[in-house]
Amino acid sequence: MRHKNIVVLGGGISGYGSAILAKKEGFEVFLSDSGTIAARFRERLDAWQVPYEEGGHTLERILAASEVIKSPGIPETAPVVRQIREAGIPVISEMEFAGRYMGRARCICITGSNGKTTTTSLIYKILRDAGMNVALGGNIGESFAYSVATGSYDWYVLELSSFQLDGMYRFRAHIGVLMNITPDHLDRYDHCFQNYADAKMRITQNMNSRDWFIYSGDDEVIWQQLPKYDLRMKQLPFAAKNAVASGAGDAFLCDGVFTATVGRRSVEIDTAKLRIKGLHNAYNAMAAALAALAAGVGEEQIRTSLYDFAPVEHRLEPVAERGGVLWINDSKATNVDSVYYALESMTRPVVWIAGGTDKGNDYTPLKEFARRKVHTLVCMGVNNAKLVREFTGVVPEVISTSSLDEAMRTARAAAREGDAVLLSPACASFDLFKNYENRGELFKQWVVENV
Ligand code: ADP
Repeated sequence: MRHKNIVVLGGGISGYGSAILAKKEGFEVFLSDSGTIAARFRERLDAWQVPYEEGGHTLERILAASEVIKSPGIPETAPVVRQIREAGIPVISEMEFAGRYMGRARCICITGSNGKTTTTSLIYKILRDAGMNVALGGNIGESFAYSVATGSYDWYVLELSSFQLDGMYRFRAHIGVLMNITPDHLDRYDHCFQNYADAKMRITQNMNSRDWFIYSGDDEVIWQQLPKYDLRMKQLPFAAKNAVASGAGDAFLCDGVFTATVGRRSVEIDTAKLRIKGLHNAYNAMAAALAALAAGVGEEQIRTSLYDFAPVEHRLEPVAERGGVLWINDSKATNVDSVYYALESMTRPVVWIAGGTDKGNDYTPLKEFARRKVHTLVCMGVNNAKLVREFTGVVPEVISTSSLDEAMRTARAAAREGDAVLLSPACASFDLFKNYENRGELFKQWVVENV
C-alpha cells in the first residue's frame, strides 16, 4: 500500500529533509513543530511548497496521517506522540523513510554510545579521499532524506543515534558499525539499560549474508547481546584486549600498532602516527579501517586518509599551548564513558574541568585515572554537590565554581608548566550553556582571549 498522507513531526534537520523527500515522492505532506523552525529550514520548506505549522500541533490534521515521520529529538512521552500511537498510526524515523528511496546506493551506518561522530567522519573522509560518490548524514552533515531527495549518491555514511534506530523497521545497513554500548540517555528508555541496548542492536536488523557487521570485541555488553540474535552477515570484530575469531576478518591492536584485515586484504596502522589520540580513537580508527576495506577502498588510500585525519571539534580538541600548559576542549564528553577515555589518553598532569547537568552518573569508573592523573578538579555547574562529594579525597584539590569565567580563572591559577587543562564534563551542558557546542566555543574563546 502506498501511504498517501504523510505527517512529519519536528522541523529540524531531520524533519525538513523528510518533508521535502515526501513532497518529491508525490505524497500529501504536512510538517508540525511545537517550537520554532529555523529560518533556513523554513525557506527550503517554502521553496518546495511544503505546508507546515510552528508553536503547536493541530491534532486533527496530524491524526489524519497514514504514516508519521518522527524526528529523533521528540520523546515517546510527548502527548502528541501518545495520541498518534493510540490512533494506531505507524511512526517511523527519517532513516526508515529515506531508505525506501535511495535506490541502489549502499549505506554504512555507525552507532554506539560514544565515538559515532568521530568514526562516521573518519569513514566519510576515507571514501571521499578515495574519490567515491558519497554523502554524509544522520546526526551529522546534511539531512539524509534531503540528500536522497536532491542528490544521487553511490554511498551514504550515516551516524545513527538510538532514537533514530528506534523508528527503523525494514531499513538495512550494508555495513553496520557498533562502537560500544554504555549507559546513556536512560531517561528516554524507562531507566532500563536493556531497552537502550536493544535499540542499539537494531543496527543489525535485516542484514543478510552479503552484509558486514563491525563491532567492538572488547565490549562486554555487546557480547551479552550477540547470542540473542540470529546473525547471518559477515562479522568483523575489532579489539585491543580480547582476540575474537571471525572468518571474514578483524582488527587487533597490539603494542600501539593495529592490523585490520578483510578477506585477503590488510592495512597496518601505527597509532602513534595518528593525529587523534588515545585508546578510544584507536578503536575508532580500527572500525573505520574495517568499514573502508569492506567498502572496497585500497589499502594505501586508507592509510593516507587515517594519518591525515584531524580531531573533530569539541572532541579532545587541542586548543592552544601557552606557557607550557595545553588547553583541551572535550566539551562533547557528556557521559562518564567518554571522560574515562579522555582521562585515559592524558599523558600530562591534569587540571580537569567537569560538571553540568548530571544524568544520574556513576563516577566510580573515573576514580582510578583521576587519582593517578588529576591534581585539581574544577567543578563547573549550578549544582556541584555530587561531583565535590565523589572526588574529595580522590583528587588533591576540588574546587566548586558556578560560571565559565570563574572555572577558567581557577584552572589557569592551578595549572603549572607541563600540565593539561582538560574540559571533559561528564554531564550535559544545559544548566549554564545552550548546548555542548556553545560550551566548547566559549571555552576556546576564553583561552584565546585570556591565556
Ligand atoms: P558520539 O557522536 O557518539 O557522541 P564523538 O565522536 O562525538 O561520539 O565523541 C564523543 C565523546 O566521546 C568525546 O569526548 C570523545 O573524546 C569520546 N569518544 C570518542 N570515541 C570514543 C570511543 N570509541 N569510546 C569512548 N569514548 C569515545
